[in-house]
Amino acid sequence: MEPVLRLAVQKSGRLAERSLEFIKECGIAYSRNKAKLKTTAYNFPLELLFLRDDDIPKYVASGVADIGIIGENVLAEKEQSVELVERMGFSKCRLSVAVPQNGEYPGIQSLEGKKIATSYPNLLKNFLAKQGVTADIHEISGSVEIAPSIGLADAVCDLVSTGSTLLSNGLKEVEVIFRSEAVMIAQQNLAPEKQAILDDLLFRIKAVLRAEDYKYVLMNVPNDSIDQVVGLIPGMKSPTITPLADSGWSSLHSVIKEDDFWEVIDNLRKAGAQGILVVPIEKMIL
Ligand code: ATP
Ligand code: ZN
Repeated sequence: MEPVLRLAVQKSGRLAERSLEFIKECGIAYSRNKAKLKTTAYNFPLELLFLRDDDIPKYVASGVADIGIIGENVLAEKEQSVELVERMGFSKCRLSVAVPQNGEYPGIQSLEGKKIATSYPNLLKNFLAKQGVTADIHEISGSVEIAPSIGLADAVCDLVSTGSTLLSNGLKEVEVIFRSEAVMIAQQNLAPEKQAILDDLLFRIKAVLRAEDYKYVLMNVPNDSIDQVVGLIPGMKSPTITPLADSGWSSLHSVIKEDDFWEVIDNLRKAGAQGILVVPIEKMIL
């Protein structure tokens, strides 16, 4: 039988959609029957298992799945022996302590002896221990943010991205204890034939991730400004330059990193570039 790599993804929830979109962007096709827990890709030796995110580290550690996509927060909380093989750059959030908006918060010492509701007891306990604080940690599995308003806890430790859920529950964020994004994990000591499939998959994932970081730009540049403009673009290799029908002008193509995007564009315009087109890149292979 041909070897197949088993990938566990979240069945439904905040990671589910982007995880599957990512697999599609890697050129892997499959069809999914929502009633079923697994499916097999048509054009890549990959089987997808749809599970609750909290269970994925355990399944990967025990070999039920070979790899998985989860939040780094879950990886850190579960303390299972698995490898982190790639940061995926989506589902960025933080795990934070929040207290009622109308209460005082003089500092972390004020959490001493307080009741804190969370789904992340290990991360919270370790964080508080480092600060020399002992609190009464109440583990609950969902709707943590309502705990203070129903008298179940004095504070919460929960995932935050914009903070709007905290706000609408009368809470304010006071301590960030962990920053998270989606990560790919793998079983330790994968069999060589599975490792080879994972290497192929990671090659594709890296091409997708890199493409997300860059934009392709095309622009018209007066010939006497070319040297100056080229100096402004930290491109992949040297940019492509072709003459335009209008003598005295050239068309220049290159890539720009998303992070420095607006600054570079501003400088290009000042240097005389015109008709700047910016195009998303689908895959980028070095
Ligand atoms: P499951 O039913 O699979 O156990 P869940 O309710 O535990 O799902 P979700 O709320 O879907 O989990 O969150 C899954 C992961 O998405 C979290 O562990 C975290 O890494 C990330 N995440 C959670 N909240 C946010 C947020 N507000 N913004 C971005 N990412 C988030
Ligand atoms: Zn979960």
